[in-house]
Amino acid sequence: MNEFALIERFFQRSTHDSAVRIGIGDDAAVVAPAPGCELAISVDMLVEGRHFLPDVDPESLGHKTLAVNLSDLAAMGAKPRWALLGGALPDADERWLAAFTRGLFALADRFDVALIGGDTTRGPRNLCVTIIGELPAGCAITRAGARPGDDVYVSGTLGDAMLVLAALQGRTVLDEATLAALRARLERPEPRVALGQRLRGVATAALDVSDGLVGDLGHILERSRVGAQIDVASIPRVPALDERLGGRERELALSCLLAGGDDYELCFAAAAAARDALRAIARDTGVPLTRIGTITAQTGLRVVDENGNAMAAVPGAFDHFRQ
Ligand code: ADP
Ligand code: MG
Repeated sequence: MNEFALIERFFQRSTHDSAVRIGIGDDAAVVAPAPGCELAISVDMLVEGRHFLPDVDPESLGHKTLAVNLSDLAAMGAKPRWALLGGALPDADERWLAAFTRGLFALADRFDVALIGGDTTRGPRNLCVTIIGELPAGCAITRAGARPGDDVYVSGTLGDAMLVLAALQGRTVLDEATLAALRARLERPEPRVALGQRLRGVATAALDVSDGLVGDLGHILERSRVGAQIDVASIPRVPALDERLGGRERELALSCLLAGGDDYELCFAAAAAARDALRAIARDTGVPLTRIGTITAQTGLRVVDENGNAMAAVPGAFDHFRQ
């Protein structure tokens, strides 16, 4: 199978999105954004051996490749519309490609995202999605708007992905049902797309937690020139993490909650006056929202443990270039 046959067979599909004037097959795609909308554009790369293992289930990888990008748009409050896929592949393995695109398109279809282009080349496996979304003009939720006195929230539960990774690496033991449930969280993260759009005009700042709460919240604090206090006791967590927090594996549990990446939940700030609105948003979207702390005028992040004491050593965020 040559490159063009491969593209036609696995990536080119018809779309009923009339805003796609020219899709896959020409030198560039052409789209018509809705009047009054701005475009939110983001790119994320997944590299074999770095973000996923060579034997990863390709269907899950297809899901995750798009999910991490949808999560970025969710954090901006944007509605995802179009995606481009750059792929380096070691070979034209048809079974692998069929499974990968099944996972990718299943998620794309759920959120009405059309694949409008990409690039395909031979090389060590590396997948890179560019995502384009729409926003009513001036309505993007940035990292820069948090104000002293705002509440700090996270969606869902934190630490799931890192806990299951620890189990897969033999650093802890999970029962089979928990392992299966958390494995889905790691391999098939659910981007909080509907939540993100509902947070427009409500959240003062937001981002998605991909590298760990402490590091990611730190980005909001830095860009907003504020600080925060968060309470470990209030960080939403699965029972398997809750048990560990009070036991011999406390260090692991703290790392998962504070520094665990890959959960793709949203962390955001909102004025106290928005509490009722946020309860309604949680109800409507079915995504639990938990208040974990407060934005402060004093800069820096204070993490308070279950006894009310400020933690001296706080596990940090994942950083690809940390020495
Ligand atoms: P060019 O040589 O102009 O870069 P290509 O031959 O790379 O064009 O691609 C042909 C068409 O197929 C283009 O429309 C491109 O966007 C699309 N395409 C290539 N690879 C992919 C892919 N992995 N996913 C989606 N579309 C792709
Ligand atoms: Mg090309």
